[in-house]
Amino acid sequence: MTAARVRAGGAPVIAPAAVGSVTALRGAAMTFAADPFAVAAADALVYEPDALVVMRDGRIAAFGPAAALLPSLPAAATVVRYPNALLVPGFIDAHVHYAQLPVIGACGRTLLDWLEAHAFVAEERCADPVFAAAAAGAYLDECLRQGITTAAVYGTVHPGSVDALFAAALERGMRLIGGKALMDRHAPAALLDTAQRGYDESKALIARWHGRGRLAYAVTPRFAPTSTPAQLAAAGALLREHDGVYLQTHLAETADEIRWVQQLFPQARDYLDVYARHGLVGRRSVFGHGIHLDDDAWQRIFDAGAAVAHCPTSNNFLGSGHFRLGDAKRAPRRARVALATDVGGGTTLSMLATMAEAYKVARHTGFGLGPEQAFWLASGGGADALDLTGTIGGLAPGHDADIAVLDLAATPLLAYRMPFCESLSETLSVLMMLGDDRAVRATWVAGRLAHERRQPKRAPGGGRRDLR
Ligand SMILES: [Zn+2]
Repeated sequence: MTAARVRAGGAPVIAPAAVGSVTALRGAAMTFAADPFAVAAADALVYEPDALVVMRDGRIAAFGPAAALLPSLPAAATVVRYPNALLVPGFIDAHVHYAQLPVIGACGRTLLDWLEAHAFVAEERCADPVFAAAAAGAYLDECLRQGITTAAVYGTVHPGSVDALFAAALERGMRLIGGKALMDRHAPAALLDTAQRGYDESKALIARWHGRGRLAYAVTPRFAPTSTPAQLAAAGALLREHDGVYLQTHLAETADEIRWVQQLFPQARDYLDVYARHGLVGRRSVFGHGIHLDDDAWQRIFDAGAAVAHCPTSNNFLGSGHFRLGDAKRAPRRARVALATDVGGGTTLSMLATMAEAYKVARHTGFGLGPEQAFWLASGGGADALDLTGTIGGLAPGHDADIAVLDLAATPLLAYRMPFCESLSETLSVLMMLGDDRAVRATWVAGRLAHERRQPKRAPGGGRRDLR
């Protein structure tokens, strides 16, 4: 240990690690041993007040008490210390539209009007590959500032928008799921493809990107109203023909949209059934929103092993309704649910702020979302939803070394409030209610320091480290 180079948090960016070299992060750390929707929160959490996360070749090699692990570190290992912080698994955003970043926060509409007035206008600009590359870079850099290390992202109808996104993610070493939007009706002419062209372009993108680095392709029909049955059938064919490819789309976001789907697909039993009839409901299917689903639909989602991405800031912004997390998680058929920003309908890329909003939405539906459960939705639960358990979403050996370092004294108010916390649960609660990008001190992606926030001035004596 004496030979290891010890660097304080706040040191300059560390160059890419050489193969076999070891970097370890030292500080308080929290991860999950189990799903806190299935077991008591205290049994689900793993908390180490002085942990070491040992990283080698992009993965976590060891996790545990620093006192136990330090003696086994190679002499040349670099140890980065994070005092007054909490290390957590990198956040996962399971539903987001990167090309809508230029219209985030444009208010005054409900979903279908907002799509026309803002989303489609922004997406048309991605026909220009230079614009798409700039938007992708801006989006991914913002993810890193927010501690997001994995995202499931919608491109626009233009294949170039997906090339730009994947190239930017590859450059940053991020795990990213993405795909070209499929739309062959009910959208501006400049954003339409056809069933055949959408199929061909998606197939070419899968060949070009799926499985490269940490990238995975998602077949992405925007939602049932903008795809003909022929296009949905082509999407089903793409899924059948390519192992490990995802399906992402929107489901039951607003009442108007649901009525529209009923008119367009009168033979279908309900909205979910439109997708099921085309072979689009399976273990790697991620449905955005799912606000207005009945018990029967939740049962079918559970039976298929599919997932729903809960997007609370978007739902509140557009007035789409309150997602019923209690229904989704009703035993014994606890459906997979991930947390998501849905930017640009969502109003922030902060997963902490998104957790806070999820808590408030759940309150409106009579469900008490525990802070441990909120963190789970954005990490271990998100990984489960994306069929990536054991790969991301946890601080355990074998996982990708994707880590967010949260600053317990990031703002004067956090610094003042934190010492009053009497439990880890309360600390997590305060972090999600008061935290945002300022609370992300650093983000590690595949064992590399990908973002480091400049240190704010500290309040004297603020922010105690002992959480229990
Ligand atoms: Zn969306």
